[in-house]
Parts: sequence; structure tokens; C-alpha cells
Amino acid sequence: MTGVLRVAVPSPLYQLFDYLPPTGDDGPFRAGMRVRVPFGRGRVVGVIVATAVKSEYPAEKLKRAAARLDDTPVLPADMLKLAAWAADYYHHPIGEVLATMLPSALRAGAEAKVQTREYWRITTAGMAVDLNELKRARRQAALLTRLRTAGEDGLARTALDDEGSALAALRGLAEKGLVARIEKNRGAEAPLPPVSGEPPRSATQHLQLNDDQAAAVDAIADADGYRAFLLDGITGSGKTEVYLRAIDRVVAAGRQALVLVPEIALTPQLVGRFRERFDVPLAVLHSALNDTERLDAWLRAARGVAPIVIGTRSAVFTPLARPGLVVVDEEHDPSFKQHEGFRYSARDLAVWRAHEAAVPVVLGSATPSLESLHNVRSGRYTALHLPERAGAATHPSMRLLDVRGGVLREGLSDALLRLMEKHLAAGSQVLLFLNRRGYAPVLQCHDCGWLSECSRCDARMTLHRRDARLRCHHCGHEAPAPRRCPACGSEGVMPIGLGTERIERVIGEDFADCSMVRIDRDATRRKGELDRLLARAEGGDARILVGTQMLAKGHHFPLVTLVAVVDADGGLFSADFRASERMAQLILQVAGRAGRADRPGEVVIQTHCPDHPLLQSLVARGYPAFADAALKEREVTGLPPYGHLALLRAEATDEASPDSFLEAAGELAREAGLDGVDWLGPVPAPMARRAGRYRAQVLLRADARTPLQRLLATLVPQLGSLREARRVRWSVDVDPSDTF
Ligand code: ADP
Ligand code: ZN
Ligand code: ZN
Repeated sequence: MTGVLRVAVPSPLYQLFDYLPPTGDDGPFRAGMRVRVPFGRGRVVGVIVATAVKSEYPAEKLKRAAARLDDTPVLPADMLKLAAWAADYYHHPIGEVLATMLPSALRAGAEAKVQTREYWRITTAGMAVDLNELKRARRQAALLTRLRTAGEDGLARTALDDEGSALAALRGLAEKGLVARIEKNRGAEAPLPPVSGEPPRSATQHLQLNDDQAAAVDAIADADGYRAFLLDGITGSGKTEVYLRAIDRVVAAGRQALVLVPEIALTPQLVGRFRERFDVPLAVLHSALNDTERLDAWLRAARGVAPIVIGTRSAVFTPLARPGLVVVDEEHDPSFKQHEGFRYSARDLAVWRAHEAAVPVVLGSATPSLESLHNVRSGRYTALHLPERAGAATHPSMRLLDVRGGVLREGLSDALLRLMEKHLAAGSQVLLFLNRRGYAPVLQCHDCGWLSECSRCDARMTLHRRDARLRCHHCGHEAPAPRRCPACGSEGVMPIGLGTERIERVIGEDFADCSMVRIDRDATRRKGELDRLLARAEGGDARILVGTQMLAKGHHFPLVTLVAVVDADGGLFSADFRASERMAQLILQVAGRAGRADRPGEVVIQTHCPDHPLLQSLVARGYPAFADAALKEREVTGLPPYGHLALLRAEATDEASPDSFLEAAGELAREAGLDGVDWLGPVPAPMARRAGRYRAQVLLRADARTPLQRLLATLVPQLGSLREARRVRWSVDVDPSDTF
């Protein structure tokens, strides 16, 4: 008999809480079920982590759980194990880890049932219509084909609408009388498509794989149980094609594939490629889903109804009924690391999951992280190389454009403007990359030197000229852009430096007859806007593309032949140890947009530092040479992947508290013993004030993981009870992706 439920509740405390079962509920109670429990002054949804016969606490002190929410565990045993491991490794409270893992609907106590009621089915006319009539509406044709095979019951809209763009096409079909919308009764469990033993039909268009691709696919298929592969292939070398083939085999064997992609890369284009290839339900977990849609996708993955699960960072927590393969695309991408709260790395957890599930994991990148390259060298990962571009495309040429001393037209050199003309005249597209949105990063008074500083941060406010406002990109603070200097009243306030909006304006003037699109966070705030702009860029309708890293990743622009990095200098002089790695990766990602189809590409990088060794090695000898040099440097300095880091951060509204807290933490650390761990700090954070808070930090560094982990395990659970902790917000970041 179950005496006590050991429950993880969402709270910052590093412990489980014991409860008695709800009155009148005989169970069964199993780990992974949710319960509603009294906690503090209210009630919260917690997860049963274990059951026990007896509590260590006196029985009369135990409270009773209010209700059990599940008849079967929502989190299977492997996910509970992942949670426990991650809570340990990242030193984060288990209750918050579990809360992060659950879709928000389940976190809030919703029933673990597919909620969707909107279904679509084929009509008689839809069965009879000649598909050729829909030749010009590819999306409609694809949906019609799927609904034909679904039969009478039809398909839930969420099953059709993974990429969020099906509704318009469905309505179009409905107007022609080819499909119909049906409502299912609320409460009736939506009939999920059955899992059949038959291999799904895969509409693989049979591209002939080149030898390297074929070898990669075979190596992945031959892996017996866990094995980690680094698929190291330049942009356009056919990595995605390798994933698709590997997934094809997994799905045909009745297993599931989990595919993680960076936030920016999860576009309808990518999902479309999967959709075209596979005639099976996809579960797509992206940020635009509402809670119900997310829950539905999560449940379809957990129940094994969706053989393919694609998602961004948090999708690493999706349960799979029959795991067969894990893929992490663009594995070097910083967006796989969560930057607040539970600071996990989805890439690293993906590898852990694959290991636990005894399935292969494929990490793909054109610019692998130094960590993964190191894992290849030490034999933990197997490298699969794709050195050539797939199909007809050739390598783009890359060179530096020395802009010293020359005349710049709003940041664009003469040489660049001439190159643009040449490529445009040849009918190609041109892409200008600048990783800074807004018009100019600062406004300055020419008479007194006043700068548009943020009142709440150690940072400048960016000028957004379109709406004449200053915005702080660090805290969101805004103000109208002044016409006169607030300090001296002069009218000589001038925008200094370059942002994407400013380039857009020059282009509008100098290339007035070329249509252009600007793609950055400002231009794509409205829902659907990014897709619309990308469609214009991909279709070739826009001739000039201007953008930030949103434009740099994953997209396929067949007509782009010239890529210009407008300003490479910004990344050269950052204090962060990963800055040069990031910058090299970004430059090569953008460069990869050039000449993807049958037109040769050209990449130019504007710089004031043409002799910088990093730029030199990158341009002359490519990423492997750069990575070699960077790894040597990390080895000498004892930084990752050779050393291991954790960052203890603290912030407060007054200047002294973060320091006092970190000093007190240092006392505890010395008591616990700093053997094998360097305790570096406290020092002010590189941005010492942000959003009105003063920030300080301690960097912990160790040659081996074990002493670092041992220290954190003793130290972190005590930090909350320090007297000094009351005045600060503090956090621990294991394997920080930057030191800001
Ligand atoms: P990556 O993911 O490495 O950037 P993709 O898989 O997207 O590369 O391939 C780039 C382009 O080359 C795509 O248009 C793809 O359809 C095409 N492609 C991939 N493999 C082959 C092949 N073996 N033969 C011809 N074209 C290919
Ligand atoms: Zn002034
Ligand atoms: Zn600010």
C-alpha cells in the first residue's frame, strides 16, 4: 500500500515534498502522475517522483494531496530519469525542472487528452477530382491527398496543420466542395490515427546520394544502439538529405525520430521538406503553437502516433513511445542553451537521451562547436564528413574587403556597391548581412558629446528611425528620439554607426528599381510576417536581402550569388571567450547562403582589420583551420572543452548586495573545499548594470568535471538560506554559453 507520495512541486527549493494520498483515492499512485497539492498558501500541480511506505516526517505533520490528475503517468520513467539527471547536473530544483518539461497545459492541470475538436475530411467530390486541377495549388493538392487516405474519420486540424499554414488551403478546398470541416464532440477522445505495423509510404524523390552522403547514412543505420555522430558538412553539402534518409529507415522500422533545430530554422520551408518526404503525421513543436496545440503535439509524440517529432530547444523534453534516432541540426547554435531559469543545453541533453535510449544521435553542422570537435578527437563521437556541395552547386569564393581609408556610403564601400551592381545586372540576388537591427546603435551630440545611454543599463539605446524612437536592446526601455540634444540643446544630434534599417534606406535610394526585403526581429514581429518575407526572398521577387542572423541560418535562396558581411569588426573585440567562435560560425553560415543552386557564389567581408589573424585563417584556410587554432588557445587557457566552467551570478537594485552575497558564497565554498576548482571573483558582470540592477559574478573553473560538480552539489542547495541571499537574485549556470 502506498503510504506517502514524494512530490516535486514547482518551487525554488532543492527537495521533494511528502504528501498523503488524497482522501478516498486508493490509487494506484505511480511515478510520473500529476497531483494537485496544497503548497504555501495555495495549491499547485506537482509530479509524483516516488512513492514510499513511510515518510521521514512525522505522519501528523504531513498534508494530504487534494487530487490525483492522471490515471496513467504523463511522464514515463525515462523522462523522470532525465529530469533527475538534469536537476543534478545543472543544480536546478527538481520541481522546476519537471515543470519545464511539461507542456504548459499539463502544468496548469489540464487533462492529458488530445483536445482538438476540429477535423477535416474528404468529400465525394474531393475523392473524384482530378489532382491536376490543383496543379497550381501545391499545398491544397498535398492536403487533399492526405485527406483522401484518411477516409471517413478525417484528420484533426493539428495533424494537418503542423506548420500553421494549412487553414487557408483547407478553406480554399472547402470552397470548392472538395473537403469538409467536422466538429467532434467535446469530451470524446479524438480518434488518433492508428499505429499500423505497416511501413509508412515515403514519397522519397529519389535523389542519387553522393558517396559521402551514402556512407554517412549507412554508418548511422549500422549503429547498433547508442552512438554519437558529428555530421560535419559545409552548407549545402546535403546534411538535411542525410537526416531525411536516416529518419526514413527509422520510421520504416516503426520507430520515432526526434529532430531538434534552432528557433530560427524552424520554418515552413523545413517542415515542408519533411512533409513532402514523409507521408506520416509529424508533431511539430514551435513557439507559435497555443497551449492546446502544443499539448496535442506533445501527446502525439508521447503516444507514438507521430513517428517524427520536430522542435526547438524545449522539444528535447518530448517523451517518445518508441525512440529510434535523435538529430540535432546546427548543433553549434547558441539557441540550444536556455539562458534563464533552468539553464540546460538541449544539445547535450539530446546526447544524454540517445545514450539512455540506446539509439544513435546525429549532430549536424557546417561549423561544429569546439566541444563537438573535441569529442571527435577524443573518440567519443564519430565524424561523418560531407566535404562537397551536393548537386551542381560549387563552393563560393570568399575574400576580405579592406575598407580602411575609403569612402563609405552608410557603411557600404564603393567596391561593394560596384559588386552589387554587377550581380544584380546578371539577374542574381544580393544578400547584405549585418547583425544589428535598428537604424544606428547610438545617437550622439556633435557639440557636447552626449550619447543616448540607457538610464537603466550600462548600454546605449539604439535609434529606430522609422518610428523615431530610442530603444535599449538589453532591457526594452524606450524613449522618443530627441531632435535637440537633451544636454546642451544643440540640433547637432547624429546617428552613429550602422543598423539594418540604415542600410535599407541607402538601398532604397541607390537601388530604387530593385525590390528588397529586410529581415530582422523588428521587421518580423507580426505573426506570419517572417514567412511572408522569406517567401519573397526565396521566390526571387526581392532582389536585395538585408538582414541579421535571422537571414543567416538554414534558408535556401537559390538566386543569391553575392553575400556581403557588412561589418566583421564587431565580433573581433569582445571580452567573451566564445565571441570569436560565434563570429566565425556566423560568417560561414551567412556565406553559405551564396551560390546554393547552379550559380557560383561570391562572399565579401568588409573590415577595418584585414590583417586580423582570425579573419585571415578563416578566409584563407576555412573553418577547420580556424577551429584548430581556437582549440589550441582554449587548451592553453584551460577553457572549454579543456576546462569546465560554471558561473554564479547575482544581481540587485543596490550596488553592494551582489558582492556581499558572492563573498558569503565564497566562504561556504572554501568551507566545502575548493580542491581542483578555481573560484574567480566576485567581479562586476561585463554589463555591470542591466534593467536597473547591479550585476556581479563568480566564474568557477576546473580541469575536471568531478570536483566542480561535487562542489556545486554541496554549495548550491545552501545558497538560498544565506542571509545575503534575501537581497539578491542569484543563479547558477553550468557550462555557460557566454560569460555575460
Ligand atoms: P545542407 O543541409 O547540408 O545545407 P541540403 O540537404 O539542404 O544541405 O542540400 C542542399 C541542396 O542540395 C538541396 O537543394 C538538396 O535537395 C540538394 N541535394 C542534396 N543531396 C543531393 C544529391 N545527392 N544530389 C543532388 N542534389 C542534392
Ligand atoms: Zn549636446
Ligand atoms: Zn536598458
